[in-house]
Amino acid sequence: MAETIGWIGLGNMGYPMAQNLLKGGYTVNVYNRTVAKAEGLVSEGAFLAENVEALCLESDIIITMLSDDQAVKGVYLGEGGLLNCKVAGKLLINMSTVSPRTSRELAELTKAVGANFLEAPVSGSVKPAEDGTLLIMVGGTQDSFRAAQPVFEKLGKAAWWLGSVGAGSGAKLAINYFLALTLQGLAETVLFAKKNGIGTEEMLRIVNEGACGSGITKLKAAAIISEDFPAAFALKHMAKDLRLAREQGINFPLSEPLTNTYQQALESGLGEEDVMAIIKFLAQ
Ligand code: NAP
Repeated sequence: MAETIGWIGLGNMGYPMAQNLLKGGYTVNVYNRTVAKAEGLVSEGAFLAENVEALCLESDIIITMLSDDQAVKGVYLGEGGLLNCKVAGKLLINMSTVSPRTSRELAELTKAVGANFLEAPVSGSVKPAEDGTLLIMVGGTQDSFRAAQPVFEKLGKAAWWLGSVGAGSGAKLAINYFLALTLQGLAETVLFAKKNGIGTEEMLRIVNEGACGSGITKLKAAAIISEDFPAAFALKHMAKDLRLAREQGINFPLSEPLTNTYQQALESGLGEEDVMAIIKFLAQ
């Protein structure tokens, strides 16, 4: 395993993903804006880079797992950012969810400095990130995809090459649209049942024991019952993904109200809670 990995972004997803590369035997250099979040990984054997440039110098494959387009662009293009470092010949992989347009822009700029770029957003939340069972949706050249495959094998149960850069982000926005619909649908169903005198636990059992139950409706049941929503996938990120889907041209009867609901929930102060906190907003 010759390659050294540089990992930027140790949030809810990035931390366990980088940890899996360490456990998988890779040498991992880490950088996070809030340095304290790297401490646990460093105690497990990761090397702390003091900035992006230092991380670049020591790494062959550099992976970003950051909040949004703005954060990723900052880390790529900002002063001391990736594309201002010595990255020629290296492989840069962005696994954050960003717009296909941002992805294509970064791919072009990366090529211009002699490096390779893949977009590889993921489906699956913190538990699959911890278990190494994410689904990885990849856009870029097939050569770069092949080069990244051993890394993806440590992070996910499947990595699919979907085409050129933009295809991976497009697929990610589509699956998150379905997720947003499902969670709002589940929330509305439970609240409607409650109005008719049916308890939340009972209604969730009816959903989850029947054909309407799915991995995600089962996963979110405990949070709905306890009315406690610590973020696995923060609501602010779903609001962002729906905005990106709208920019990307999604236009169906449900897409506008769906986007508006998550946006209003974000503005009401629920952004840092889990996406399932949409039920708190709808209950108001
Ligand atoms: P998160 O917990 O909010 O972590 C965000 C990371 O981005 C942190 O490391 C944060 O650094 C960094 N960051 C934010 N703004 C930055 C900036 N301006 N400059 C440098 N670093 C910055 O997010 P997450 O849940 O890990 O999600 C990461 C990405 O994966 C997002 O695009 C999200 O949509 C996507 N995603 C998330 C899930 C999920 O279930 N959570 C699932 C699939 C995909 P600090 O620590 O300094 O704040």
